[in-house]
Amino acid sequence: MTTVSKNTVARVHYTGTLAESGEIFDSSIGRDPLAFLVGHKKMIPGFERELMGAKVGDNVVFTLPPEDAYGPIIQDAIQEVPSDMFGQINAEPGMVLMSDIGPFKVLEVGEGTIKVDFNHALAGKTLTFDVMVVEVRDATEEEILHGHAHGPGGVTHDTQNEDNSCKGDGCC
Ligand SMILES: [Zn+2]
Repeated sequence: MTTVSKNTVARVHYTGTLAESGEIFDSSIGRDPLAFLVGHKKMIPGFERELMGAKVGDNVVFTLPPEDAYGPIIQDAIQEVPSDMFGQINAEPGMVLMSDIGPFKVLEVGEGTIKVDFNHALAGKTLTFDVMVVEVRDATEEEILHGHAHGPGGVTHDTQNEDNSCKGDGCC
């Protein structure tokens, strides 16, 4: 039986909770299982490591410190920017907005400046995952070349629809 290892595609159901509060931050329950190509840095580091060697039907529960998940909070990622940069957007604390370099959260709105946080929403958090392995199979040559899983729960290439087009590394 194929077990989770480099260049396999694993399909898993997962529920992620904040270790501190028990609050669920993400879950595949009620959706298709998540498919990912193992060993290609598609997942946070600890997630793959903990699943290595698992097989279909295994239920794996593990807790990851920030360094194995979304990293520590980086103070330099918290910045004051001129309000002018927001143009017509009426920024309010708690708002999450998109920029060229990724999403950020508005922390404080001051006189002429706005304090923003570019840290990942889960940076600095210890995360617990409850994972059920649904399928493990060898990846196809094409998947290894593209660096991601294809098919249900993975990347779908649809030339008619740009939203579904490949955003993988070195792909297409
Ligand atoms: Zn692809």
